[in-house]
Amino acid sequence: MHLPTSPSRHVHAEASARSTWYHASAPRRFALGETLNNTISADVVVVGAGYTGMSAALDLAQAGLKVVVLEADEVGAGASGRNGGLACSGWRHDQIWLEERMGQADARALWTLAEDAKADLFSRMQTLNIDADWMAGQIFAAHTPRLMQALDYDADHMARVYGFEAPQRLNQEEVEHALGSKAYFGGWRDTSAGHLHPLKLLYGLSDAALAEGATLYEHSLVIEIGTQGLKRFARTSEGKVLANHVLLCGDGYMDGIDQRVETRVLPIGSFIVATEPLAEDSEILPNKESAMDTRFVVNYWRRTQDNRIIFGGGEKYTPSWPTDVGTFVRRNLIKIYPSLERIKLTHAWGGALGITPTRLPFLHQLAPGLISASGYSGQGVVLAPFFGRILAACVLGQSGYQDVLSRVPVPQFPGGRLLRWPLLAAAMSWYALRDKLP
Ligand SMILES: Cc1cc2nc3c(=O)[nH]c(=O)nc-3n(C[C@H](O)[C@H](O)[C@H](O)COP(=O)(O)OP(=O)(O)OC[C@H]3O[C@@H](n4cnc5c(N)ncnc54)[C@H](O)[C@@H]3O)c2cc1C
Repeated sequence: MHLPTSPSRHVHAEASARSTWYHASAPRRFALGETLNNTISADVVVVGAGYTGMSAALDLAQAGLKVVVLEADEVGAGASGRNGGLACSGWRHDQIWLEERMGQADARALWTLAEDAKADLFSRMQTLNIDADWMAGQIFAAHTPRLMQALDYDADHMARVYGFEAPQRLNQEEVEHALGSKAYFGGWRDTSAGHLHPLKLLYGLSDAALAEGATLYEHSLVIEIGTQGLKRFARTSEGKVLANHVLLCGDGYMDGIDQRVETRVLPIGSFIVATEPLAEDSEILPNKESAMDTRFVVNYWRRTQDNRIIFGGGEKYTPSWPTDVGTFVRRNLIKIYPSLERIKLTHAWGGALGITPTRLPFLHQLAPGLISASGYSGQGVVLAPFFGRILAACVLGQSGYQDVLSRVPVPQFPGGRLLRWPLLAAAMSWYALRDKLP
């Protein structure tokens, strides 16, 4: 299963550079993991130390299993250490979309899963004592009147069919006040969602997993997985872990490891800036909430406890990287906040996230003892830690959500492993163009 590397590999260095505001503001308390340089044995080997991997490692170590985590770079180099920090309700598609494709019962089961994931994130942060700067409040802002109608329709459906009454409607004046921007026609505020410091969350999960006895190797890129006798293995250039189970948790950073995953989960680049702190009485997000809009190339932003705006806007569907991420993102920022035209950007960075053709995650047992979870399509802050728990449950033979997840439609991207890039770029650019239509 060792495949040639794809064009995505060369952006990985930039997608994992530690130039983020998060790396500058989150203390790492655990020691740097050694590089794997011999052959060792474990019950489970986890490939990738993001939310998915560290969350699975935590549950498995807690259950008494010998767990080894192999991380290509360092903990937090991947998306979990560099995302927007928005902790959202639900999935990338609304429930009506899910009902039409999966039927009422499965759509309801998925809604329950997403709500459980959100509740689990809160309770885990509490029980593990993870202070990740949690702030409640998320505004979903409509950039056209037609999309405001669509949001209203969806909110009504959610209240009637699912009893989900948390969101409050904001008319144009109210959304202007809530965001400090005139760019939107209205929106909905979800107080059950919110935002956090993503790297503090990941460091907290990692601390807990290591305290339970998981072993972490960093700068240990897995270049091959396979079987040896009755065992599975994950091999790096200098070492090998033999185990009963291999969990693939590399999401948008996994490259050349398993074709079945990589033809379904494609990395796209997303880009973020952090501003210098605004005045405490700034009109921009006065309640220090988070926000996203209805654009296909979604803008997402939030105000931190120390009054910075963390703003994500702009995506790349090709392996190329913007030459100047700050300028690339600022263009979108000032469409919403013209007053920030000259604000100093203290940090600008990007990262890779895995998307699937249906924007639903891909959790799959690829072979006995080999399971993969990835493709959260921009919803991983809530979903990835929970999917890590589902992976752990699979290893431990516990039942849970595996049944409904096995029916989630995640086809391959058209074009196979190599042609998927140009075909995706063409399709996504067409959808992105529609953002400009009224
Ligand atoms: C810029 C950006 C903004 C985002 N904003 C949001 C947001 O606001 N809200 C939200 O919900 N989601 C957001 N996301 C998505 C979210 O961050 C991800 O869905 C989530 O972090 C995925 O977690 P993960 O553990 O599966 O993968 P990752 O955190 O990407 O971790 C995967 C790890 O696997 C390692 N790895 C890969 N291959 C190998 C290998 N062969 N050997 C060893 N290690 C390997 C990588 O180095 C990496 O550390 C964003 C993502 C990005 C990039």
